[in-house]
Amino acid sequence: MKRFAMALCAALLAIGSTTLAGEVPTLGDEKSLYDLLDLDRPALKAVKRAVDKGNFEAADKELLRYFRTRKAVALYGLDLQNVKVSKLEQRQADEALEHKFYAHKGYQPSFFYGDDIDWRYWPVKDNELRWQLHRHYWFIPLAKCYYLTHDNRYIDAWIDQYTDWVKKNPLDGVERLQAAGASQEEIAAERENIRFAWRPMEAGRRLQDLLTEFALTIQSPRFTPEFLNLFLRTYRQHADHVLNNYSEKGNHLLFEAQRMLFAGIYFPEFREAPEWRRSGIEILNREIGIQVYPDGMQFELDFGYHIAAIDIFLKALGMARLNGFEEEFPASYIETVHKMTTVTWNLLFPDYSNPMFGDTKSHDKASLLNQFRSWSRVFPDDRQLEWFASEGQRGALPDYTSQQFPQSGFYTLRSGWDMDATVTVVKAGPPAFWHNQPDNGTFEYWHRGRNFFPDSGSYVYGGDSAVLAQRNWFRQTRVHNTLTLDNRNLETTDSKLLHWETSPEQTLLVTENPSYKGLTHRRALFSTQDGLLVIVDHASGDAAGTVGIHFNLCPATVSFAKDGTLSTRFDDGNNIRIKSSGCKPLHIQQEEGWVSNAYRKKEQRPAYAVEMEKQPGEELWIVTVIAPEDDERRGSIAIVPDRNSTADRFQVAVRVGGRTYTFKYEL
Ligand code: CA
Repeated sequence: MKRFAMALCAALLAIGSTTLAGEVPTLGDEKSLYDLLDLDRPALKAVKRAVDKGNFEAADKELLRYFRTRKAVALYGLDLQNVKVSKLEQRQADEALEHKFYAHKGYQPSFFYGDDIDWRYWPVKDNELRWQLHRHYWFIPLAKCYYLTHDNRYIDAWIDQYTDWVKKNPLDGVERLQAAGASQEEIAAERENIRFAWRPMEAGRRLQDLLTEFALTIQSPRFTPEFLNLFLRTYRQHADHVLNNYSEKGNHLLFEAQRMLFAGIYFPEFREAPEWRRSGIEILNREIGIQVYPDGMQFELDFGYHIAAIDIFLKALGMARLNGFEEEFPASYIETVHKMTTVTWNLLFPDYSNPMFGDTKSHDKASLLNQFRSWSRVFPDDRQLEWFASEGQRGALPDYTSQQFPQSGFYTLRSGWDMDATVTVVKAGPPAFWHNQPDNGTFEYWHRGRNFFPDSGSYVYGGDSAVLAQRNWFRQTRVHNTLTLDNRNLETTDSKLLHWETSPEQTLLVTENPSYKGLTHRRALFSTQDGLLVIVDHASGDAAGTVGIHFNLCPATVSFAKDGTLSTRFDDGNNIRIKSSGCKPLHIQQEEGWVSNAYRKKEQRPAYAVEMEKQPGEELWIVTVIAPEDDERRGSIAIVPDRNSTADRFQVAVRVGGRTYTFKYEL
């Protein structure tokens, strides 16, 4: 970091601070604001004159005048002529007036944080609740409500709460307590607080949102020169903190880089602004090559973070374009983002619902459509994206149905794009990180508007042992639709694609995962044009134990026939049957089942496993048929493998009621 401490300013710093004594807390970095700004910018001439005279009060006033009238820097995503407050934002703002802070979507109604705000209040020991409190989700709603109504309660609440937050969450809190001879307990509590309040992810979020709050409130008489001084000094502290503490990898790093770019472009008055911008762009350009597989999927293998990454990349590009920095992004950057958008709609079901692998939640259709529309504006020549953005009103469907994303291990086996289609999405990819789960080989199967096998979801993130236990339940391999040994979690998650083949009649996918020491799981999935999904599982290797294939259904009433066939019992007639058959007799084991579509929301559902014992070196196979129920296929299901079948060359005849099929693959 370059330091710009001019002797004169350093000498005057003490004087400058006294004008704000009692109001402005000491910051971690003891620098005068005027040391941080480039006062040689012609538009800051009056500010510089006041600073040169040592009149910081006057300088603050001139600076406020400057920011109220400066040639606007465009803030991507904010249209001051068209500010709207959603119902949720109105509630967040109104509750914030009473110090009920919307800290986390999953913890509603919001908790009360005290008349004298306790920023360390932690009613449920879920890390996210405490981290996200420091994202100040209700600040933009307060600023918007003020902007639209000029009701001073909103801006006063924002200014008071931000100032209070700054005072009670000093970045150098630990050093200060140590210098004051505080107890080890106090210091430990302070250190913990800073870990939450100043995690770069949260600091970056504030770095971004403070810009919107600034733009919406700067014209208010309540926005005083003193507050401007506090605002800008703490803003720079945020930028400096993120710049020097970037997360190591993943979506956090992307978020932080995008926000640094925004900071650098929005406040060019800071001497360090070009460095902030350069740093953000450099990281985004580098990480887009690292974090996106050649097939276009983000490497955390989570649909939600994949979409978030697209938005980050496009936000950064949008901000750069608006302010004349577009050439700092190479063409390959935008091509990669484009590819990422294509992955998104390929993984969706025809009703715009999404698979919930990893930490993915259920995305609502309206926000997905919004995203598609904004992407479509960036890629206007993409006819397919236009089709999905307009719900088929414009553009064109792709000339294919099934699609593979073999580097990231996502596969869509699709009979069509309409509501009568059958769509299976399979996840069988490489190792990934925190948001990923040991679920290789799992799938979701959607038929005519119903997802019969929604993924269990994630329910919560991290926290104390009770919270972590809840997370771990949803992470288990056995709550996914794949194969386990003794119900244990997979030891290795590194699936390879062995075969992919599409024809007008069916799609075939064969993948293999070295699941456990001594057990390799090979899975072939056949998806037919009339909705059948046939799965051939092979378990081979030295290991011995109970091999189970797990099936986690949607919440439904189900029944088992004598031959082990499971049927769903929906009144609307959209039902399926499932039958498994193996090289040895199978045991059906009913299991605990839950599905979570949103944070801290869950619903019970039927789940079971078909099991058989495996001896060391023994090779097992199990064939499963999932068949939609209709008039033609009402009779029993028969599964007859060819007796010469091997794991490399398998053939099976399947009869479902009045229809007979033959499935085979050869590697
Ligand atoms: Ca899962």
